Amino acid sequence: MRWSKSLVPTLKEDPADAEAISHKLMVRAGLVRQLAAGIYVYLPLGQRVMDKINAIIREEINAIGGQEITMPVLHPAELWQQSGRWDAIGDEMFRLKDRYQRDLCLGMTHEEVIAWIAAHEMHSYRDLPQLWYQIQTKERDEARPRSGVLRTREFVMKDSYSLDRDMAGLGVQYEAHRQAYCKIFDRCGLRYVVVESDPGMMGGAGSHEFMAQSPAGEDQVALCGSCGYAANLELAASRPPAPAFAAWTLEEVPTPNARTITEVSALLQIEPALTIKSLVLVGKDGPVLALVRGDHQLRERKLERVLGPFRPAHPDEVRDAVGVEPGFVGPVGLSIRIIADACLRTGCYVVGANKPDAHLRGVIPGRDFPAEFADLHEAKAGDGCGRCGAPLAIERVIEVGNIFKLGTKYSVPMRAVYLDEQGQEQPIVMGSYGIGPARIAAAAVEQNHDKNGIIWPHTIAPMQIHLLVVNSKEPKMATVAERLYGEMNGAGMEVLYDDRDERPGVKFKDADLLGLPLRVTVGSRAVKEGLVEIRRRRTGEEITEPPSQVLAAIRRLLGPPA
Ligand code: ATP
Ligand code: MG
Repeated sequence: MRWSKSLVPTLKEDPADAEAISHKLMVRAGLVRQLAAGIYVYLPLGQRVMDKINAIIREEINAIGGQEITMPVLHPAELWQQSGRWDAIGDEMFRLKDRYQRDLCLGMTHEEVIAWIAAHEMHSYRDLPQLWYQIQTKERDEARPRSGVLRTREFVMKDSYSLDRDMAGLGVQYEAHRQAYCKIFDRCGLRYVVVESDPGMMGGAGSHEFMAQSPAGEDQVALCGSCGYAANLELAASRPPAPAFAAWTLEEVPTPNARTITEVSALLQIEPALTIKSLVLVGKDGPVLALVRGDHQLRERKLERVLGPFRPAHPDEVRDAVGVEPGFVGPVGLSIRIIADACLRTGCYVVGANKPDAHLRGVIPGRDFPAEFADLHEAKAGDGCGRCGAPLAIERVIEVGNIFKLGTKYSVPMRAVYLDEQGQEQPIVMGSYGIGPARIAAAAVEQNHDKNGIIWPHTIAPMQIHLLVVNSKEPKMATVAERLYGEMNGAGMEVLYDDRDERPGVKFKDADLLGLPLRVTVGSRAVKEGLVEIRRRRTGEEITEPPSQVLAAIRRLLGPPA
């Protein structure tokens, strides 16, 4: 590929709105351009990265028996009404009408279409198991499309779907995917962890996320260096260290104007961990009081697992339910349902007194008020691991893949059934497995760059070789470079040839920015000494070779194909 004839629009400046490094570098390296919020064009080099990643994904999913199909982007509303997700999903779904006023939506995932195919084409236990996948466009009206291609409203996903007779079969296909995903991310050169996760809108019997470590990530995970426990912070279990409890007797203490945990603990001169935060929420069956320790945050997903969907109570709902302003609410003497974080099973605390300007000191949960105990608090760095007790670390991560045991959540409402050996109708047991190639690319850039630009893992680099002629107007230099370019192409090597009539400084800067694994420089030494420089982008290590030896040296340096 000759740069002078290609679309590789590199930029000197970061895009104005960019924060994530991958966003800045992918735009500056001329890989992508933003057409509108969360809608991106992939330019030639960006497209090559996506092709590389997709080829790796295809190989690994084919290797576990995947059969590639293509499903439509446009879906009739009926399918989503049958599964219940037409109503369950809100603004994230793009909806539209056709000329006959029929409702349609743009596919944000394809469980419904898969269940439709299964309902029509799968009949007997002999038809199962199956594994179908596609690499195709998804549309989601994300609330905050940002960070470049990490979160876009239109994106390509590899989504596969397994169909089995029973949970045991699903277990086998799920495990095959877990391993295939690890191979994919290993081959793409990512550092990642596999964590337990919350199935969210997919529903079902369990799920894992594949998380690439990066400060640009929107998710957080808790990791135990000792036993290997790893979970999304949304549901990570931890054992918080207990504070030094005081031998208080139960009494009311005046707390004029002190409402927040910080104000109350400052006034009473105690650490926040000796107080309890009381949150009035409204669930399906009315108001509920959720309790977490004063120094803890409530993790919504954890409570949702106990309570179902809920929202914070409005101030007048708080007054109706507990008879006091928010800020002085506490659990003692209330008749509404109380759900307390499990760590409050032990200890003696300060709580709101359900009247203005007062708190109760010396309250023992269970003794002074009834409560259901459940894990509600957000794990913090340094908390004991929920499994082994060793200290947990918290890291920011990018979700690059997600696998779900769906079970019969879609097959039952959508009538995707088969006849078993006894001729009995059974629902097909499904799994669903997603990977975002653009997130892999962006996560790779997040993890592999320096101040000068990208350092591509060679497996997903848009090209392997950056051939640079220092002065394309100098006939001898140009002759050497042109000959090398021809030889490299002839040998089937992937080469970007910077033959532009640009200043050498600009060309070298662009080479670092693009981050191809090897730079081959034809400069004045090629003319004077007959030597060409070969430089590794990652290490900066440089060797010189006569032109006749360059191809052999490149083969040696790149190693066997991945
Ligand atoms: P998130 O929680 O980050 O919004 P998700 O859990 O909704 O993602 P899934 O439905 O599990 O995503 O989709 C599978 C994969 O598709 C994700 O692991 C991710 O790699 C990719 N993906 C999801 N949403 C986007 C998006 N808006 N832009 C780019 N890739 C995405
Ligand atoms: Mg997900």
